Amino acid sequence: MDYSATTMVLNEVIEEMKPYFDEFYGNPSSVYSFSMKSKIALDEARNTIAGILNCKSEEIFFTSGGTESDNWALIGTAIANKEKGKHIITTTIEHHAILNACKFLESQGFEITYLPVDAEGLISIDALKESIRKDTILVSIMTANNEIGTIEPISEVGKILKEKNIIFHTDAVQAVGHMKLDVSCMNVDLMSVSGHKIYAPKGIGILYIKRGTKISNLIYGGQQQRGKRSGTENIPYIVGISKAFEVVYGEFERETERQKRLRDIFIDEALKLPNVKLNGPRGEKRLSNNINLCFNGKDGEGILINLDMAGVCASSGSACSAGAIEPSHVLTAIGLSRADAKSSVRFTIGKFTTEEDINYTINKLCEILK
Ligand code: PLP
Repeated sequence: MDYSATTMVLNEVIEEMKPYFDEFYGNPSSVYSFSMKSKIALDEARNTIAGILNCKSEEIFFTSGGTESDNWALIGTAIANKEKGKHIITTTIEHHAILNACKFLESQGFEITYLPVDAEGLISIDALKESIRKDTILVSIMTANNEIGTIEPISEVGKILKEKNIIFHTDAVQAVGHMKLDVSCMNVDLMSVSGHKIYAPKGIGILYIKRGTKISNLIYGGQQQRGKRSGTENIPYIVGISKAFEVVYGEFERETERQKRLRDIFIDEALKLPNVKLNGPRGEKRLSNNINLCFNGKDGEGILINLDMAGVCASSGSACSAGAIEPSHVLTAIGLSRADAKSSVRFTIGKFTTEEDINYTINKLCEILK
């Protein structure tokens, strides 16, 4: 029940990757024919992913994961566009890969506006419009939140920013596999994706960069990936993320509908338990695989430990920060008290979650609460 933390690598993904470890291990930049296999695999992976994201293959860059993609998007565009302005807009509920990159940029003289969200975790379009300044160079708003599953109005935001010629980045790490990500409909210039949330290995990600977007390098070196993201490409993992995209989007409609049904059974049953509240929205504004519950008056960590003993993995609404348990910044941003945030637990489902798993978890929760 913690697929949003990470996923297993699918067998078909492993099988696809295998030959590139020991059989076709050539460096794709080498000129001899043996390396052609690697070069072809790299090109094919880019084409496959570009087809699914509806962009050009040269707009796909492989990175080491969501954190690098987010850092590159923010720091790279800030540096490349600093003559135009030093103002950036983001939200209070972003992942720390964004928030801490923003902190770094603040230390370098950039000014950041953090948009608040409502009780469901949604930004306000009016507040966004009001926060835009003459020197705004970049806006970064996540496609969907990792804790409460709120889906932000990305394409509407993108339309506004396009008219104003402001660069728009979205962190789609939690959305990938659960939403159709057509970068053209979304009106985004940059989009971050990570492999390990969609049954590919950890340590591989993507940054989509729309052609013409001004962005500096984060990593300097050789001429790989057109000199923009140097380093010998990790061919097995690139093949892996491409295969994972194929699998996940090949069964997208069926699987998201199935997960939505399980999600809603879980929420309906959980809300029958005493003093339980749902964090985040219901229905179409919520990721198909996310459930986040507040167990009022109970200790979230305690529930997690008891769930663990029952063989259920879930995740809490707090994190260990500087030796103290701090409530989640997302839950406090939607108006929860520190105590309620610490009483919250996130459950996220995936490809192998069954209705029996849901029933088992609900029964265990019932026993734990008693
Ligand atoms: N952004 C979001 C919304 C995430 O949920 C995560 C990981 O959980 C990341 C970025 C970081 O991705 P990675 O683990 O691939 O570095």
